[in-house]
Amino acid sequence: MPIETPIGARRVVSTNPATGEVLREFECASDPEVQEAVTRARIVQPNWHETPLRRRLAIIQIFQRLLNERKQQVARVITSESGKPVVEALLTEILIVLDACRFLLEESHRFLRESTVPHGSLATKAKRGRLIRDPYGVIGIISPWNYPFSIPATETLAGLVTGNAVVLKPSELTPLSSLELASLLHDAGLPEGVFQVVVGDGPTGAALVESGIDKLVFTGSVATGRRIAQSAAARLLPVVLELGGKDPMIVLDDADVDVASSGAVWGAFVNAGQTCLSVERCYVHRRIYDRFVSACAEKAKRLRVGNGLNEGTDVGPMIHERQLRTVEQHVDDARSHGARVVTGGEHLTSVGPNFYAPTVLADVTHEMRIMRDETFGPVLPIRSFDSDAEAVRLANDSEYGLAASLWTRDRARGEKIARQINAGTVMVNDAVSCFAISEAPHGGVKASGIGRTHGRLGLEEMVRVKYLDSDLTPGMKKPWWYGYGPIKAVEGFLDFQFARGLMQRLKGGMSSITLLTRKKL
Ligand code: NAD
Repeated sequence: MPIETPIGARRVVSTNPATGEVLREFECASDPEVQEAVTRARIVQPNWHETPLRRRLAIIQIFQRLLNERKQQVARVITSESGKPVVEALLTEILIVLDACRFLLEESHRFLRESTVPHGSLATKAKRGRLIRDPYGVIGIISPWNYPFSIPATETLAGLVTGNAVVLKPSELTPLSSLELASLLHDAGLPEGVFQVVVGDGPTGAALVESGIDKLVFTGSVATGRRIAQSAAARLLPVVLELGGKDPMIVLDDADVDVASSGAVWGAFVNAGQTCLSVERCYVHRRIYDRFVSACAEKAKRLRVGNGLNEGTDVGPMIHERQLRTVEQHVDDARSHGARVVTGGEHLTSVGPNFYAPTVLADVTHEMRIMRDETFGPVLPIRSFDSDAEAVRLANDSEYGLAASLWTRDRARGEKIARQINAGTVMVNDAVSCFAISEAPHGGVKASGIGRTHGRLGLEEMVRVKYLDSDLTPGMKKPWWYGYGPIKAVEGFLDFQFARGLMQRLKGGMSSITLLTRKKL
């Protein structure tokens, strides 16, 4: 169960960003308390690993049922501390976790089953190879505020089914959502200590990195990711880093303008643009550019901005005033360099403290910060292009590479261009929703990170692969041991296997082993 610390000078406060109301205050877990959680996790983990998989999965199934039963209450907690509309809390947080459970229930047996590795080389044919997937032990998870439930939950569930214990350090802005996760897992019957939450701030996260965990799954900004990578390198701690993005959207000349503009508006403004996979840059073929910009502006104007707890809200507040300042700076910079504010571009102080109007910018260039740095707010900057090659060049002109999208009526053309984009995921005719595909790996290239979460590749990150090699001729000394044969014989063996044509001629003829055999020591 969560550790809520009695001592320590630093505090974190969960606040409703729509109203400024303080929801709950916590003292940060101290370094010894973080250490204590990890030690406890290490003690209980072997038992958890030895618990039969079907029993581990039964707990996941109960968790799934409880989450579905309590979805209204959990969604309200998520909305209260993150600001997103309740409907988004249900669709982009709870649905994703429910489906992650479905995926794990279906896939875990197959994933964890030992698999054989056939040997192709004649020299090693007489050995049997198998892959065994062991848990790391204790997985540390450090998570951000923008998806305060689905990000830590999907990572935690993958860690647990593979037999790990998990210690989670949620964002200082959204600890309550993680405590909901802890209480659901507890009520589902997860043994004490197998999952723990240490509430705190950056230094609490740093203490977790240094606590002796066996692997870290970090989701957050590039700046923090770099710091963590340095600290992890000193410890040779394996890490998954899910970092920021500046996802491009390319709208080809044959795209359906109405469909693509609706996709752009949702992709840029869902969760008030505070999504790692947000459409952060939009490139539109010159032939449809004006129509597309107008359609986006019309649709953005119709969005209802307000408190996420109110039915009918489309766009909630920014998480924090700091985040809003970044958005203002990017928009001001773009404006001062010649971008056109087609709609929005203002702090909506009349709605509440942290609201920013859904903003469409046209005629942006790559010299502007809005096209280079992660904005993480409700802004859709649009630029035109003249050829597919130019669109690809612009999309790839970024230090980030999380995801991208291509919009076209010609799917084959879209898929062809998708292969030229440097990103962890490229979607054709949709954006952002790849995160909801439980089977799909999530992660980036370049500064967007290292490793993957979700899907089978996400499960692979939670296990140490052990290769078990078993020799089928235990009574035989191996030809490569001491007592080397003549050089000519070894050369002949290499030719036998690798010289063009020779292998074909001799295949099935001689045993490779007899070629090399001499009396062994
Ligand atoms: P952040 O980097 O400020 O914080 C993330 C987490 O790291 C928090 O829990 C924080 O307390 C902790 N932390 C801060 N300093 C630390 C340190 N020195 N050592 C250890 N932990 C530390 O990020 P944020 O503002 O919470 O989240 C927004 C960022 O996350 C954006 O850049 C967004 O793109 C990115 N993000 C990426 C993904 C993805 O899957 N790639 C998903 C969501 C968010």
